[in-house]
Amino acid sequence: MPDLAHMKIGLFGGSFNPAHQGHLHVAKAGLRELGLDEVWWLVSPQNPLKPMQPSYESRVETVKALALPPRMKISHIERDSGTNYTIDLLQSLKRRYPVTQFVFMMGADNFQQLPKWRKWKEIMSAYPIAVIARPGQSIKARLSQTARQYADERLSETYAGALAEMTAPCWTYLTLPLDNTSSTAIRAKLATGPEL
Ligand code: ATP
Repeated sequence: MPDLAHMKIGLFGGSFNPAHQGHLHVAKAGLRELGLDEVWWLVSPQNPLKPMQPSYESRVETVKALALPPRMKISHIERDSGTNYTIDLLQSLKRRYPVTQFVFMMGADNFQQLPKWRKWKEIMSAYPIAVIARPGQSIKARLSQTARQYADERLSETYAGALAEMTAPCWTYLTLPLDNTSSTAIRAKLATGPEL
């Protein structure tokens, strides 16, 4: 087990059904803009807000197929934690790695939907959050309940490199060049078959 003390690690969770270039775009942006040492990809065993997902192993394979660059790894801690709820995972990480500087990374659509997540305010208070812009979501995310309620805790993107050292609740919004890939679109395309 590597010494994680004082490392800055991005937690990037998702269903990854399947993983795609948009995810890689988010993970690379996080590594670069947030000054992280590593990004851990956390494949959720079953997102409670999504319909039944294909097997965990098959979705892990789609992440592997992206050929993750150095300093990115697939972590099985979410599956091993035996919970489907993000808050349980974050709390167990806090107990296990008390001095590691974790940042929770998510796309703008998830940030906007955060109030639907179990104990969402405790999620906001667990670790700093980096929100990555996503096509069609920027205005909704900025006007969302989460953004309004935590307006005073927003860190300017200019200081995103300091986010991992901040005390939660604290979040920043990364307005990067957008990537419009989505798993939903990929599944729809696979369902209709190849274009003639
Ligand atoms: P689905 O279309 O099935 O909802 P998805 O493409 O959103 O899937 P997820 O596995 O749910 O993929 O995404 C994991 C995380 O990556 C989420 O925080 C999501 O907001 C973010 N994300 C996915 N695609 C992009 C993208 N193109 N740009 C920015 N963030 C993204």
